[in-house]
Amino acid sequence: MNIAKLSSQHLNLYFGSKHVLKDVDIAFPENQVTSLIGPSGCGKSTLLRAFNRMHDLSPDAKIEGDLYLDDLNLYKSKVSVTEIRKRIGMVFQKPNPLPKSIYDNLAYALHIHKFPKQQIPHLIENALKESYLWDAVKDELKKPAVKLSGGEQQRLCIARAVVLRPEVILMDEPCSALDPISTGKIEELILRLRENYTIIIVTHNMQQAQRISDKVAFMYLGQVIEYDTCDMIFNQPKQELTKNYIRGSFG
Ligand code: ADP
Ligand code: MG
Repeated sequence: MNIAKLSSQHLNLYFGSKHVLKDVDIAFPENQVTSLIGPSGCGKSTLLRAFNRMHDLSPDAKIEGDLYLDDLNLYKSKVSVTEIRKRIGMVFQKPNPLPKSIYDNLAYALHIHKFPKQQIPHLIENALKESYLWDAVKDELKKPAVKLSGGEQQRLCIARAVVLRPEVILMDEPCSALDPISTGKIEELILRLRENYTIIIVTHNMQQAQRISDKVAFMYLGQVIEYDTCDMIFNQPKQELTKNYIRGSFG
């Protein structure tokens, strides 16, 4: 039985002849924040993207093994990619609002996923509240989203994921383009969202990983080297590689 919210079994991923993920077995628990850490190029983004089928459009990507959302096999069931992306949302490094108003960024996502029209205003208000944006934007919902600050744009992108009521939110270095104050707000938001969502976040910021994570996976050269509670990884890592990485000796 599969009790994790999101998991992989014997996941191997290749880009052409390059073996990028090597036999990754990992299980992410529900309603927790798990950070993926490790030096650039070790496969963190590739792993995250595999879960919401972002490699489908790369002709040279080959995936072996199984990925699951609960017991749903993400590649071998008949569930559509659109449905998978509704249930597993994603937020990227650079805020990427559409060139539309604040309101329409969220309305568009709801429209694509065929939510009933009459629910849309209410769902948008809730998602903006959940993302700590409502007070700042409630009087200017028609303003172009690109006029928001970087941190607000990123919270809008989180709201755009949240508005679809996903089960999992994947975040790939969501704060790396933000100043410390905006970063603090996103971290606070992540800790709140954990109550309702399972969150997997890639971060290069070790302080951030310690502030927000329940669990931490350290990756190196396409493998998960060590996966444990945040406390164990940062205070009593078992592997020499993990020790060296968190001490900042490489990466
Ligand atoms: P990380 O997020 O840990 O920095 P990535 O997952 O982005 O690492 O990349 C892992 C490896 O896969 C790197 O060597 C990268 O160059 C390679 N890679 C990533 N995406 C592609 C792609 N679309 N085509 C070919 N190689 C890729
Ligand atoms: Mg990356």
